[in-house]
Amino acid sequence: MLDAAGCLALPGLVDAHVHLALDTGIYRTDDDFGIGTRSAACGGVTTIVDFATQLAGMRPIEAVAQRMAEADPLVHIDYALHCMITDFPVHAEPSLADLVRVGVPSVKVYTTYRPNYYADDAKLLRIMRAAAEADALVMVHAENDAIVSEATQALVAAGRTRLAYHAVARPAVAEVEAVHRCLFLAREVGASLFVVHCSTPGAVHLIHQARQAGQIAIAETCPQYLLFSDSVYEGQRPAWYIMQPPIRAEELRQELWQAVADGEVDSIGTDHCDYSLAQKRATGQFTTTPGGIPGLETLLPVLYTYGVQSGRISLERLVRLTSTNPARVYGLYPQKGSLEVGADGDVVVYDPQGRGVIAASEQHTIGGYTPYDGFAVEGRVKATVSRGRVIYQDGQFMGEPGWGRFVPGRPFDRGVVEQLYGR
Ligand SMILES: [Zn+2]
Repeated sequence: MLDAAGCLALPGLVDAHVHLALDTGIYRTDDDFGIGTRSAACGGVTTIVDFATQLAGMRPIEAVAQRMAEADPLVHIDYALHCMITDFPVHAEPSLADLVRVGVPSVKVYTTYRPNYYADDAKLLRIMRAAAEADALVMVHAENDAIVSEATQALVAAGRTRLAYHAVARPAVAEVEAVHRCLFLAREVGASLFVVHCSTPGAVHLIHQARQAGQIAIAETCPQYLLFSDSVYEGQRPAWYIMQPPIRAEELRQELWQAVADGEVDSIGTDHCDYSLAQKRATGQFTTTPGGIPGLETLLPVLYTYGVQSGRISLERLVRLTSTNPARVYGLYPQKGSLEVGADGDVVVYDPQGRGVIAASEQHTIGGYTPYDGFAVEGRVKATVSRGRVIYQDGQFMGEPGWGRFVPGRPFDRGVVEQLYGR
């Protein structure tokens, strides 16, 4: 029996930016779909959208089938998938329609990470055109590769490869330029664009302006860009904050919060990518340290405390940013992201009483750390309900591997964007 007196009952969180069991060929994250979704459930996240990586020579739907086979026996909560497209030969266009048909209406592309993931402008344009044709959304990791490469090479030549230089190697202008270019290319071919993990207010403002001019463009940011400033790279534990794009300067952080408060950001995801501290500390060089941090379990308490309780956003806005909007964008609403009759019965019960401190030792990950270690938070996740079943309550995880199911997303609906607006 779940006693929720005095608590908030919210739709379970939908984190649309998650990398569990990510294998880059060089590093592999510490978690798998079982461990990662356990951590998610303990944080009130009831749906994740992870990625299937299509490698050279593979059809996108093959990548999806492989990823589902990996996830299905392990997941404790429901999940959906995006497809990372790394190889897109001419004549591959129909493969995106196949993806949409199997319930994966979103493709992810990178403007950086040569040679494996990088899409040059011609390839970007072809993928965008094909996606527009197939009613798929194009998600982009936007950083100008040439700017990042040159800055990195200059630092390496000067022997400046300590972690302190990580953000210097990936300046804000690299992100803003790439967003600008992607918006332009998307507009040319009528593609709908979702810019993941915006770390700069400049990127968010560009997306907002494009939308006011009638374009379908959606901005995501992550809690880490709202909570930390780049002084962390000079601190005691810089490895905790190595991620791409990097943490930004304090004035950009403040302006990004303001953009969230002003309703310019539509979605907040974690970009959860849980390398172990041992992996992150191994070389002490920013050029070889894996980028990514865990975030699923801390998403709600951190945003509730530093967003809602600090007066930056309303509770309603928090729910839209972390649940309703991502569910709408990825064609999962109202089954997910809502408490309507007929919805899936995914609920998080949040007890706003009391104060606590986030402790790495209490996280349900393997990585053994969280960048929020020692953060004071207000309230706590009291219980998590997945499709009507209590899977977490009062510190106790009661989930079962394989309980979670793949939830197919409907084709991207351009009409959805109007519903994202507002504070
Ligand atoms: Zn990511």
